[in-house]
Amino acid sequence: MELREKCGVFGIYSPDEQIFPYLYWGMLAQNHRGHQSHGFATYNNGLEFYTELGLIPPIKEPGKESRVKQLPGNIGIANVRYTTSGSNEYAALCYDAMPILSVGESRSLVLSFNGNIVNVRELQEKVGVNKDTSDSHALAALIVKKLEETGSLPKAVTELMQVVDGAYSITSILDDGTLFAFKDPWGIKPLCYGFSDGKYAFSSESTGLAINGIEWQRELRPGELLVVKDGMMSQVQAFPSKEQAFCAFEYAYFSRPDSRFNGKYVYEVRRDLGAALARIYKDKVDRCDVVVCLPESANDAAYGFHEASGLRWEMALRRHRYVSQRAFITDGVDRQSVIYRKLNILAPKIVGKRIAVVDDSIVRGDTMRGNIKRLRDAGAREVHLFISYPKIIGPCFYGIDMSTYSELIGARMNSEEMAEELGADSVNYMPIDEYIKETGMRRDQLCIGCISNKYPTPTADNIASDIREELAKGGEEKGRAYE
Ligand code: SF4
Repeated sequence: MELREKCGVFGIYSPDEQIFPYLYWGMLAQNHRGHQSHGFATYNNGLEFYTELGLIPPIKEPGKESRVKQLPGNIGIANVRYTTSGSNEYAALCYDAMPILSVGESRSLVLSFNGNIVNVRELQEKVGVNKDTSDSHALAALIVKKLEETGSLPKAVTELMQVVDGAYSITSILDDGTLFAFKDPWGIKPLCYGFSDGKYAFSSESTGLAINGIEWQRELRPGELLVVKDGMMSQVQAFPSKEQAFCAFEYAYFSRPDSRFNGKYVYEVRRDLGAALARIYKDKVDRCDVVVCLPESANDAAYGFHEASGLRWEMALRRHRYVSQRAFITDGVDRQSVIYRKLNILAPKIVGKRIAVVDDSIVRGDTMRGNIKRLRDAGAREVHLFISYPKIIGPCFYGIDMSTYSELIGARMNSEEMAEELGADSVNYMPIDEYIKETGMRRDQLCIGCISNKYPTPTADNIASDIREELAKGGEEKGRAYE
């Protein structure tokens, strides 16, 4: 499955070390969260930053000048980005690349943001920011404005949380070297903090800390602000926490398997989801000869499925490690050819066999359709799909690249229709309640908007129900509804 997260963020303070290497490795460990641009910012008696399009390059290549500009300072933030707000044109991608610098009349800051603002238009008007730019400019300008008005960072963040609807996990540095991080009142996007040897760090995923040898402490709470100033960290509940709504999809797809949320490693959840699928659909599993998976986000689920079912697990689909072009960003024709270049099939492993294919999710269906055709062309006798994330029936308004009902195959078809459309013998989805149980969280702690059509934030919930009403009357969607 090919979907993009909007961004990944990182931030760090060290009392006595240049922090650029920590920033670099902490962000590189999370490059899967954003491919379109990356950037770094530090405080060194003033704010410095640079951004560039594309993946984070090697820190040093033999015989070449490094493309990585190593910024000085002991306080820094970093970002990797994929566009879900603003334009995809070259100039806009450059302008919207993060960290961004926002300069007010008397204060300024650099900001790294993961999420998506649903009432972005209203916010842009409020702070007088160009509507052709991404939501991060409006957010940064709002913090600067509120900081100038109130003279207090906690008050500025509280006032921001009173007016912004959406998902936002943020790391930022003020012009006086204050490092801070906060999460929206629903806690939709991940953001954890770590501490070791006087160093404080913030990271979208715990791997950003682990790779730097910094000890994970905990997830930030919804509505919580953590501030690091002069080597001390302070905590403020900037806004009363709403009902927590952590993105349920992080477990099945987005995060690295070696990251952990709320006390559980992602790989454990995925393994248990695979095992649960094998138990729930035992009658279908009994028809199959082997289990295969689409590498790599479904690997752990396939392993759990294999353990629970006793079916042999064949690595019949092999991924080309160095094809990094993403299938969805090309046009329809290229998309298929990119998929073909990325995955190859070992026909001897599947010829004449009834195959259980384990994957994490189905969004638009075109990638899956292509892969099923290739499995059949390679000699598979039957192809049964086992999907570890429940059926996606609604868009995401919070920073995942699926923003309309029309693009979602699950919003249009039931499992039988989908099997026919995709060329599979059956499509077997994880039920929502079972999924929630395997995450170890409660239903009222998760966002399950895209699988239930019930969105945690009011603007998103209203937009979604208006669109469904319009579609039911035969109307059409006009792209991203929040823009
Ligand atoms: S709508 Fe779906 S993808 Fe978006 S934040 Fe909620 S659970 Fe995650």
